[in-house]
Amino acid sequence: MSKLSLSEEASRRRTFAIIAHPDAGKTTLTEHILLAGGAIRAAGAVRARGENRRARSDWMKIEKERGISVTASVMTFEHDGKMFNLLDTPGHEDFSEDTYRTLTAADCAIMVLDAAKGIEPQTLKLFEVCRLRDIPIITFINKLDREAQDPMALLDEIASRLALDPSPIWWPAESGNRLRGMAEVGAGRFQPYVKKPAGSDEDPDHGDPLPLDQAASFFEGREQADLADALELVEAGYKPFDRQAFLEGHMTPVLWGSALRHFGIEQLLKAIGDWAPPPKVMPAKKEAPPETRNAPAPEALSVEPGRDEVTGFVFKVQANMDPNHRDRIAMFRMASGAFKRGMKLKVQNTGKQLSVNAPIMFFASDRELAEEAYAGDVIGIPNHGVLRVGDSLSESGLIRFAGLPNFAPEILQRVRVKDPLKAKHLKKALEGLAEEGVTQLFRPELGSDFIVGAVGQLQFEVMADRLGEEYGLDVVFEPSPYAEARWIDGDKADLEDFAGKYRPQMAVDIDQNPVFLAKSSWETGYVAERFPKVRFTKTRERG
Ligand code: GDP
Repeated sequence: MSKLSLSEEASRRRTFAIIAHPDAGKTTLTEHILLAGGAIRAAGAVRARGENRRARSDWMKIEKERGISVTASVMTFEHDGKMFNLLDTPGHEDFSEDTYRTLTAADCAIMVLDAAKGIEPQTLKLFEVCRLRDIPIITFINKLDREAQDPMALLDEIASRLALDPSPIWWPAESGNRLRGMAEVGAGRFQPYVKKPAGSDEDPDHGDPLPLDQAASFFEGREQADLADALELVEAGYKPFDRQAFLEGHMTPVLWGSALRHFGIEQLLKAIGDWAPPPKVMPAKKEAPPETRNAPAPEALSVEPGRDEVTGFVFKVQANMDPNHRDRIAMFRMASGAFKRGMKLKVQNTGKQLSVNAPIMFFASDRELAEEAYAGDVIGIPNHGVLRVGDSLSESGLIRFAGLPNFAPEILQRVRVKDPLKAKHLKKALEGLAEEGVTQLFRPELGSDFIVGAVGQLQFEVMADRLGEEYGLDVVFEPSPYAEARWIDGDKADLEDFAGKYRPQMAVDIDQNPVFLAKSSWETGYVAERFPKVRFTKTRERG
């Protein structure tokens, strides 16, 4: 058992995710962070996963080989007295819904930019989710070993497009073939970059930083003087790093490097350790036990990481790919308490109790049984479908965290099973996948069709594969007449009035919430104007 107090254990945790546009280098950076943190010994371990993820068939294969879904899992390592939980988010944009949910379990995000490309569309989308959830952001500008954009132009882009104050911690000296290293802003130190010798497989050690005025041997021509000039401008032109402003989401510290060449990685890891916030206080509600009659209104509560009771929520459910087992692993992010193996936890909304005898900790190269865990940690809880995405778990069973967001799907299709005798199975299978959050499911009030919603086309393909493999169902997807789905909310009378006029387009989601299926975005706008008392929303918190 730990010798540290509960709050000490919590405050040494750093739970973070990496957000990036595909190809910016997230997988490579993940691997090099794990290397720098001592969690893996050689490059290559994570790479295989990254590359396999590119092609869907390979991706499915690797899921099968590992027996567990590799999407959005977590990697835990201890370094320099801190426990790091790196939440892995799938890079493919079709899985962005998964990514969004994973971000609800992160206390900080590393935003990776390609130094030649700057902010790309997916960076922007993910950034917006971080902002919505007040997640502070550390920026890492990657691929300095290639020809990069002007560093000031990159920082200006962060300032103007993200409305975020960039505070450069280091400043690069050239890029591409002429990359010499980087200087620590305001500190007069220089971190040299050592090029990989031709024909060598191993990356050279870049060496320790040294005073900039003693680093002449690393530069050619005017380069050193140019760097000194640039530093003067930088020190005058950008705000110095202010941790409070960073934690409040107004400022981002900017670091630079090359993930591929293991340059700038120690500096990044140190920034995460020093600056990323420990597990945050989470808003929650204390509910009456499910069996209570005339239950009083729930009591608002701030769950401190040092609270004695174990509490947390499920942000992802991963299905075992072994078709003979229906085991699921719920990824449980702890908000408070000291978890011990064998502990009993209760699901808030159902009151079901669970003995957590085989919780899993995900170390980079291995999965291990978790003997203990604290706020900020993510443990995998095997179960047979008792746990759903968005569920809150606690010792008392009374704590409820705000649900995870569901995002309005961008593609809506009708699904049909080829063998009509299997229609009943289809319903169960679709519900299972929707509970896991693979796709969303809408049941129209009229008729017997199911409408499946997804953010991207790939989700349908994964779904079709899984329906075949796990449930033995051969399905076809057909176009549906709908383009958009909106959750509706408002006074009962207003809702009934609206639903009465649009009955053929009304449906319910998996939690029986009313949804309006619009035939076009024009129609969404039209009904919103005609029924001003009804709220039409694009996201809904589950749970
Ligand atoms: P992801 O899609 O964001 O996970 O990106 P990957 O990590 O798979 O990287 C995409 C491509 O960029 C791969 O070919 C990497 O080898 C390459 N890459 C990643 N980081 C660097 C870097 O620092 N320098 C260079 N030159 N290439 C890099």
